[in-house]
Amino acid sequence: MSNYVDIDNTREDEQKKVMEEIILADHCPFCEENLSKYHKNRFIKEGKHWILTKNRWPYEHTKVHLLLIYKKHATHLNELDSKAGKELLDFVKWAEQKYHIAGGGWAMRFGDTNYSAGTVNHIHVQFIQPDLNSPNYKPVRIKLGKG
Ligand SMILES: [Zn+2]
Repeated sequence: MSNYVDIDNTREDEQKKVMEEIILADHCPFCEENLSKYHKNRFIKEGKHWILTKNRWPYEHTKVHLLLIYKKHATHLNELDSKAGKELLDFVKWAEQKYHIAGGGWAMRFGDTNYSAGTVNHIHVQFIQPDLNSPNYKPVRIKLGKG
């Protein structure tokens, strides 16, 4: 059992292996001091509150799958600086333009991973454009809740 990751919510074998390392290390993979150990993609943008980068394990059938990671360790919405909301909106607006996103969605899980179905228990946002032309295309679904 880890306070930082929920291995039951992993999707891929390589991701599971990395999660096992994180559980042994007993630290948060999205906190700044540990992020570079686990996150191999460069930062696309860095603000006062958020880091914008590509998801290391993009969901299937996504054309664009970005991650916005809150720069301080937080698991609940009430820990977020309200000013971070503006920066988040600025970043997703920027990404929409930069990647010519015709349409998609963004989602932020929070709190107990039994309810959020999050893998990493540190506030982050998934920003997604589905790839309608991917082989064996299926709609991208964002799960909430265990199981
Ligand atoms: Zn953290």
